[in-house]
Parts: sequence; structure tokens; C-alpha cells
Amino acid sequence: MTVSQNPEGSGYDLAVVGAGVIGLACAWRAAQAGLSVVVLERDEPGSGASGVAAGMLAPVTEADFGEDALLRLNLDSRGMWPGFAAELEELTGLPSGYSEPGALVVAADRDDAEELRRLHTLQRRLGLDSEWLGPRATRSLEPGLSPRIAGAILAPQEGQVDPGAVVAALAHALVDAGGELCSGAEVIALHTHSGRVTGVRTAAGDTVQASRVLIAAGAWSSEGELGAEAGAPEVRPVKGQLLELRVRRGGSLPASRLVRTPRCYVVGRSDGRVVVGATMEEQGFDTTITADGVFRLLEAAYEVLPDIGELEFVRARAGLRPFTPDNAPVIGPGEIEGLLWATGHGRNGVLLAPLTARRMVEALRGVSTVVSA
Ligand SMILES: Cc1cc2nc3c(=O)[nH]c(=O)nc-3n(C[C@H](O)[C@H](O)[C@H](O)COP(=O)(O)OP(=O)(O)OC[C@H]3O[C@@H](n4cnc5c(N)ncnc54)[C@H](O)[C@@H]3O)c2cc1C
Repeated sequence: MTVSQNPEGSGYDLAVVGAGVIGLACAWRAAQAGLSVVVLERDEPGSGASGVAAGMLAPVTEADFGEDALLRLNLDSRGMWPGFAAELEELTGLPSGYSEPGALVVAADRDDAEELRRLHTLQRRLGLDSEWLGPRATRSLEPGLSPRIAGAILAPQEGQVDPGAVVAALAHALVDAGGELCSGAEVIALHTHSGRVTGVRTAAGDTVQASRVLIAAGAWSSEGELGAEAGAPEVRPVKGQLLELRVRRGGSLPASRLVRTPRCYVVGRSDGRVVVGATMEEQGFDTTITADGVFRLLEAAYEVLPDIGELEFVRARAGLRPFTPDNAPVIGPGEIEGLLWATGHGRNGVLLAPLTARRMVEALRGVSTVVSA
């Protein structure tokens, strides 16, 4: 990899570390705002969590007790997705897989129903758009659901994208807006002068000069020398295994909505792929696919959508979600002048990409401080 310095030779306005959905979205918006931007990715765009994610845009069914501030961020970003996807698709001519199918959180039995009733009460208290449906009403919406289910929460506003497609479109849009994207460029250290950031150094020994550096390295944001010298926020990897299945010739998707249970979710795509996710495992940086992970996901999906058993098994994958101790992302300036962070998006980085990019451009303009819900 050779990183060119920007044409004026004085360095870039912004160097972004990491080409996941967060780094790319921020870089695209910064390039659109007129900054000279380079994204440095040690592998390929989307090779982290963003390339594995299911792509649910699901703030209502992700809402949890004690996370009201995070919910507001998720809802704000959900509201931005229709415009964000339309702009991305129009500028690049590439799909994002955006759709608004709504979601059903299904109770497989009475115990689930009790748990989901509590969740529904919380959703109503928070003023969220959701409705409790009995088994018959639920199955009239999704006839593929098992006759044994005990009801469901309907959240009609939940959406989805195809994260792989979004990453590809963002990379395209970034370059169209004048930004540069360098794959195979691992950043190992910051350059500073008189207490402010002046660029980064790569593993290949290149120095990339930049007046601002944004670290969007996902689960690796606080790793190594870079994380230590940058005063990184605490970010840890939470492993998620996920299955990719496919509808066989002449078949149809097992459900038209996002289907969730307390143990799994099922996301169908318009091209016939079906994603079943995902485990939550504290295993450090391990991404091994385990028999237990595959078994439990299939079992959980089959429990409510028996037609899952008829689908073709394509592959199983694992990704590392970047989690902070309070589950809230860190978006904004760091402690060193010129250093910025966009990391710690946990289970909702795809959902939060439009909002993060907007907040980042505001931070680059100096009109906001650190966001931490
Ligand atoms: C199984 C699973 C399912 C998920 N489902 C959803 C979902 O349905 N909806 C949702 O909103 N979110 C979902 N998520 C969460 C979402 O994927 C993440 O929050 C999001 O992708 C984080 O994006 P990111 O750009 O911060 O990190 P990443 O996508 O991990 O990108 C970080 C990038 O930085 C690069 N990098 C790291 N260190 C360096 C370095 N030193 N130099 C250069 N490059 C470096 C990595 O190679 C990587 O490409 C899911 C995650 C998983 C694992």
C-alpha cells in the first residue's frame, strides 16, 4: 500500500482509521463538507463487524431497561435512514437493501410471553410504536410462524439494510466525493507535535500527515500502541455468530417481517438470503464458529419458523461488536488536540451510522463535544 499525501503536500484535513460502516460514513460526510479525507483500513472495507452484521434498523425492539439516552440516539438515527439510504443509492447507483418491513418479537411459549409483556410495557412507557398481538393475530400477519407461539410484539416501524451493500456504496460515495480509501494500511501509531495530532504511522512505515485523525477502528479501537497513546475509551469485543441461509429455487422467505425471539432473530433479504443471528459472547478477539453457536441459532429460529429447516445452509460467520462499559457509543473529540473518536457502537453500529456521521461533521466544525449517551 502506498498512501499518497494530499495534492498540496501539506497532509490531509482528516485521516480516518478503519473502513467499517462508521469510519466510511464519517469520511463520506466529511468529504462532502469539503475536507480532504483519507481512510486507512488494515484489511478490506467491511472486514470487521460491519461486514457480518444483520443490518436491522430496530431501535424499538432493541430498547432495554435503563438505556433511555441510547434509545433516543437510536431513534434519531432511525429517522435519518430513509434519506441517508436514498442519497447513497442516488449518488452511487448502488443498492443499500433499505426497506421498512416492521418487526415481530415472537413469544415461543408462555415464559417468553411473560418476558415480552414486560418489554412491551417498557416500550409503551417510552412512547414507542408497538402493539401486543395474540397468537392468532400474529400468525395472520406471518403464516409461516409455528402454531405453538404465544403472541408477539409488533413494531411496525423497524427497518433493515444490507450492511455489505451499504459498505460498498459508502466506499464508492467517498471516492466520488474526492476522498481516498487505502486498503491494507494498518495504522500503528499517532504522530503528534506540540501536543496536537499531525498524522499517523502505518505498519508499512508510511507516515500520513493529517491535521485531524478519527479513530473508527471498531472493537480494536483501544488496542495496541495506537489505543494506549491516543487515550482510547474502554472498548471491548463482543462476539456474535450469525448464520446465512438461502431460499431454494421456487421457495419464498420464511417471513416478510423481521422476526425476533428472546434467543435469535431472522432477517430475510430480497435476493433470497436469510440471516439468523446472533450469539452474544465475551470471548476476547476470538471469531471461531462453534457447533454450539450454530446449533443454538438454528434451534431458536426453527422453534418459531419451522420452514427454516428447508432452507439451504450457506455459511456461518462471526464478528466482533465494539462495546463500551455503558453500551453507549463515543462520538467526538478526544483528549489530544486534533484527535476524534467514533467507536463503541455495540449492537447498533449500522443503525447509528447516519447520526454518527452527522455528529462527526459537527465535531469537525467545532460545534459539539463528546457524545456519550
Ligand atoms: C453478528 C452481528 C450482528 C450485528 N447486527 C447488527 C444489526 O442488525 N444492526 C446494527 O445496527 N448493528 C449490528 N451489529 C453491530 C454492528 O455490526 C457494529 O456496531 C458496527 O459494524 C461497528 O462498525 P465500526 O465501523 O465501528 O466497526 P467495524 O465494522 O468493526 O470496522 C472497524 C474497521 O477498522 C479496521 N481496523 C482496526 N484496527 C485498525 C488499524 N489499526 N488500522 C487500520 N484499520 C484498522 C478493521 O479492519 C475494520 O475494518 C452486528 C454485529 C455483529 C457482530
